[in-house]
Amino acid sequence: MFYPRISQSAFSSYNYCPRLFYLKYIQRIKPPQTQSQTRGSIIHNVIKNFLKNPSKREDLLREYNLLTKDNGNLEKSIVDIGYPLLTLWLKEMYKRGYFSAKILSLEESFERWYKEGFVLVGTPDVVFDMGNEIHIIDWKTQRGVPSEEKIIDNFQFRCYANITDWGKDVVFVAWYFRYNRIYTFFSRCEDKTIFDRRLFELFNGMINGDFHKKTDCKPEECQLGGFCEG
Ligand code: SF4
Repeated sequence: MFYPRISQSAFSSYNYCPRLFYLKYIQRIKPPQTQSQTRGSIIHNVIKNFLKNPSKREDLLREYNLLTKDNGNLEKSIVDIGYPLLTLWLKEMYKRGYFSAKILSLEESFERWYKEGFVLVGTPDVVFDMGNEIHIIDWKTQRGVPSEEKIIDNFQFRCYANITDWGKDVVFVAWYFRYNRIYTFFSRCEDKTIFDRRLFELFNGMINGDFHKKTDCKPEECQLGGFCEG
């Protein structure tokens, strides 16, 4: 039997709006990358390399500088905010004890096979073993900071929490990089069975071709709002 591999981001898109999933994963529409998305992927890479091989603060900032230079068309304001943000990031990491915690995974992919006929695939940014619990962290560099309610109900993290048996309580940590601040939100994950039921519902919708539009759609808040017609 063929089991399609479905990423957590595909499930998250379908969960947000079935039509968005259709545009992204079936029509394969890709809007051009914005400056802040480019900055976001640079920050992700710099942090990943730093955690792989912890070095000096100066090295972290130097690498950011080199990568932004390689992207010669980045606006100066985008380049400049990297330094204060990464410095804040370092302070937060020390303050919250992550530098003394064990890294279980750094952008590694996990998968879980569901007997209902699909494989859930996901790649958390970083997973720390904090001793009595597991922290799954995602660096959020591109969008605004959502309400706490939305963070707690975050579908992406529930995918990560359920993708494997982590062996301990899982805490989901959303780490937002904004212009001159870093916001950190913590939330705990619910019972696996409730989440699994939600995934089956979404999978059934996908294979039955249900690509309806979100009822409370706000195109200005949607990444493909400009491509969604009809
Ligand atoms: S604009 Fe609205 S209906 Fe269209 S894909 Fe985005 S959220 Fe869905």
